[in-house]
Amino acid sequence: MTNTGIQMLESAKAIMRKTAKQLHLTDEQLERLLEPEVIHEFNFEVMMDKGNLRLFKGYRIQHNSNLGPYKGGIRFHKGVSQEEVQALATLMTIKCAVAGIPYGGGKGGVVVDPKTLSEHELKAVSKAYVRAISSVIGPYVDVPAPDVNTNPKIMRWMVEEYIQTQKSKLKTQTHNSQIISQRKNELYATFTGKPVDMGGTLGRTEATGRGGVIILKALLSRLKSQITNNPSTMLRASKLQTNSSNPIIADNSWENVTIAIQGFGNVGYYFGTIASEAGFKVIAVSDSKGGIMSNNHTSLDLPLISDCKKNKGTLAGCYCAGGVCDLKNGKVITNQELLELPVDILVPAALENVINAQNMHKIRANIIIEMANGPVTEEAYEYLTKKGVIIVPDVLANSGGVTVSYLEWYQNIKNQHWTEKRVNAKLEKMMIHAFEAIWKTSTEKKLSLKQAAFEVAILRILKKEK
Ligand code: NAD
Repeated sequence: MTNTGIQMLESAKAIMRKTAKQLHLTDEQLERLLEPEVIHEFNFEVMMDKGNLRLFKGYRIQHNSNLGPYKGGIRFHKGVSQEEVQALATLMTIKCAVAGIPYGGGKGGVVVDPKTLSEHELKAVSKAYVRAISSVIGPYVDVPAPDVNTNPKIMRWMVEEYIQTQKSKLKTQTHNSQIISQRKNELYATFTGKPVDMGGTLGRTEATGRGGVIILKALLSRLKSQITNNPSTMLRASKLQTNSSNPIIADNSWENVTIAIQGFGNVGYYFGTIASEAGFKVIAVSDSKGGIMSNNHTSLDLPLISDCKKNKGTLAGCYCAGGVCDLKNGKVITNQELLELPVDILVPAALENVINAQNMHKIRANIIIEMANGPVTEEAYEYLTKKGVIIVPDVLANSGGVTVSYLEWYQNIKNQHWTEKRVNAKLEKMMIHAFEAIWKTSTEKKLSLKQAAFEVAILRILKKEK
């Protein structure tokens, strides 16, 4: 896992270097983008259930604050390393700039396998980690959130502990109740991804999947107008270009557009259900144990499949299991087969590096939406882009999550509570805005969407462009 961390950091740095070269940045400017502003690496003790003290290693890496407070999740995983946290913090700086939100990038982590802890120990680790970082976080300084193996419940423990650490400051500074109330709101705003009854926002759970579908629709609309306006200048997506009767671009109804999704967790499930509601045809889904597809090209009933998965434990186990799911015309497929299906849209929403040198020649989708972080390796990205496949990069495609985290922070600071409808409307506006800036750079400079996203982000971070 440390090796994975090193690789991850190297590939984040490689794309920064490539973009810096294209933008003719100075060595100092590049260095500033590559190096984190602060690395906090620390050890902390926790009393375990058996009465022994155990030492844990934690990190909080604050990469760049040019655009605002550091923003990024806290990961609990046995493979957490400094390099991994640093790479993720670097990508958060880019993602927040791409999303157009006033945040820099940060990330945290604890080297721990949470599955080996009791609930009591997990709570103690969460609280001890927060005590260790309490002096370097804050609503205008650094705003953590959940990440791998952390969730709203853990955020609740962390916020409670953070408030404890700040209590003395609250009392001694002022007796003005209005100021105290504002200060309390700000303490809640120090974390996002909180439970709704603790200042969390409606719409956060679905936000990453919803944001991905918004981007997909914006992309298809752009492809359609590009071809309508000037069919001979279609830059990429040669497959789409050569077939303007392709259902993807024929009109704005998506009913013939087929989608396959790898991963049926938070991101994959909501991407799928929201895409289905919008009229897309989700014909295949998978989880870590394998997948299912409908072989007569009808849309899968994802809520039904989700219920079935809860009962059976796996998606593959749902296939025609006693008539529980509606897949009489379907079949079980492997994760590899899912990636190679001849669908219009492929959505890797599980793990990194799943589309790589080994399988890139077999990918038949026209468009890939990177909902997971880093699902397409650099080599595969270049190969497929050259082939005409459009790949929407993770820093744009899955930025709906951090965008709604920003909306949560904003509501806390302003002491507001928005309806889900309002959150979703704002998310849509912000995602489309983010997409349009990248699309413009991509078409004007004839760059891949990934390269364009890094250019837009870096120019914003260096405050060279609005
Ligand atoms: P999750 O844990 O809820 O779900 C992950 C899913 O992937 C599960 O269905 C799991 O069975 C499946 N999976 C695991 N190994 C697999 C394999 N080998 N093949 C196929 N499927 C496999 O996680 P999530 O929150 O949905 O996150 C998924 C990805 O999206 C991660 O890369 C994450 O970093 C990224 N992401 C998530 C968010 C968010 O808001 N949750 C935001 C941005 C990026």
